[in-house]
Amino acid sequence: MELPSETYTCNGFVSDLHIIDTGEVKFLKPAGVVRKVDQLGRIVLPKSLRKRYQMNEGDPVEILVQGDHIILERYRPRCVFCGSINEVSEFKERYLCSECMSDMYQLRRN
Ligand SMILES: [Zn+2]
Repeated sequence: MELPSETYTCNGFVSDLHIIDTGEVKFLKPAGVVRKVDQLGRIVLPKSLRKRYQMNEGDPVEILVQGDHIILERYRPRCVFCGSINEVSEFKERYLCSECMSDMYQLRRN
């Protein structure tokens, strides 16, 4: 799905405004760091960013893409049906949000 993107100024930075599928508006701001990708495709995240975002060794990180952006985010299980990260529970080794679980319950009752 192609998302709308407009250019805005935020805290002195010119940034792209992105509307994420949750309806949340996020400004992308340069972190002031440029790193080279090594021959295996790895990039070292600066310690300051790992500390700021509480990323520790072994923590799962999800890679998201949006247009020509690659976004790293702390991994949170998503609903297998709608992709929501809100009120997600594990059920038979899959994740379901409470809304989809409720929809399934309603289907079963009909
Ligand atoms: Zn769902």
